[in-house]
Amino acid sequence: MSVAFHGAEFCWMNGDIIETGKALVSAMEPIHLGIFEGIKAYVENDVQSRGRLNILRWKPHVERLRRSAAVCGMRIPYTDEELLEATRKTIKANGFDTNVYIQPRIWPKAGAPQEVHTVIPAWTFETLLGKDNPQFSKNRRLMISSWRRIASDALPPQAKSWANYGNSALALREAQRLSYDGAIFLDNRGFVSEGTGACIMAVRNGKVITPPVTASILESVTRETLLKVISEDLGIPVEVRDIARVELYASDEVFLCGTGGEITPVTSIDDLTLGKEYPGPVTKRIAEHYADILARKVEKHREWLTPV
Ligand code: PMP
Repeated sequence: MSVAFHGAEFCWMNGDIIETGKALVSAMEPIHLGIFEGIKAYVENDVQSRGRLNILRWKPHVERLRRSAAVCGMRIPYTDEELLEATRKTIKANGFDTNVYIQPRIWPKAGAPQEVHTVIPAWTFETLLGKDNPQFSKNRRLMISSWRRIASDALPPQAKSWANYGNSALALREAQRLSYDGAIFLDNRGFVSEGTGACIMAVRNGKVITPPVTASILESVTRETLLKVISEDLGIPVEVRDIARVELYASDEVFLCGTGGEITPVTSIDDLTLGKEYPGPVTKRIAEHYADILARKVEKHREWLTPV
C-alpha cells in the first residue's frame, strides 16, 4: 500500500520514480548530515490558477544545493540537467497542474559516507500572492526570539542543512508557546539576522533595508531576486547593512521573504505595531511585481523561469 506524502504519490529516488511510500531507508541513516533545497514551480498567467508550470530560479537553487553539499563534505552524483529532468519527472508522475513545491534532499548513505541518497519529493501549495488574496493580508505578530541564530563558526547558516532547522524549531516553538505567529532571530553580535525559514526586509524612509550574508543568514534566492527587482524595476533604493533590533520596531513596514513564504507582511514585532498601514504600500507594490514575475508576465525576467 502506498503512503501519501502531502498528497504526492510519487517521488524520485536515486535515479528512479517510485511510490513515495516505498522510498524507504534504514533507521540507522546519518540523517543529521542531510542537506536540502526548497524550490517552487508556478502556474503561468495567474499565480492562483491551474495550467502550465515553470520552475522559479532553478539555476541558483541547484548551485546552492551543490554549495550546501560541499560544505557538508558530500558530492552530488548527478549533473544539473539530470536533476532538472528528475524534477520534471516527479511533477509529471504526480500529475500536478497547480503550484508545486519541490524539496530535493541529499544525505550520506549509512556505512558508505562517500555515497549519497538523492530524493526529490514534491507537493502542491497555496500561494499567499495574487490580487486580493486574504492570506497575504492576514495579521502576523512576530517576536524577537530569545534564541540567537547559529553562528557561522558553529553551524553555517549559509548552507541549507537540516541541522540548522533545529535552531529554527526552538525559536518557532518558543513563539507558539507565547502565542506569536513566528520569530525573528538576532545574530550572535545582537544584530537582526533572519526569520526561522525566511529572510527579513524592512522599509524605512522609503528605503528597503536587509541584513548582509555575514549576519548569519541563509544565502536566500528570493532575497537576491528581490534586491535586484526592488531597485532596478521599481526604483526603490535598497541597502544591505546590519540592522539594530530597535530599527525594526521603528520601521514603516517589515516583511519576510523566501521561497516558502514568498513575501509575507509582518503586522507587529514584540507587540509593537509597525507603520501606519497594513500591509504597507511598499510591501504590496513589491509583492504585486513579484507575483507578475512568477506568472511569467514580466518579459525581461522570463529567463528566471524554466518550463517543467
Ligand atoms: N532563511 C532560512 C532560514 C530559510 O529556511 C529560507 C528558506 N529557504 C530562507 C532564508 C529564504 O531562502 P530562499 O529565498 O532561497 O528560499
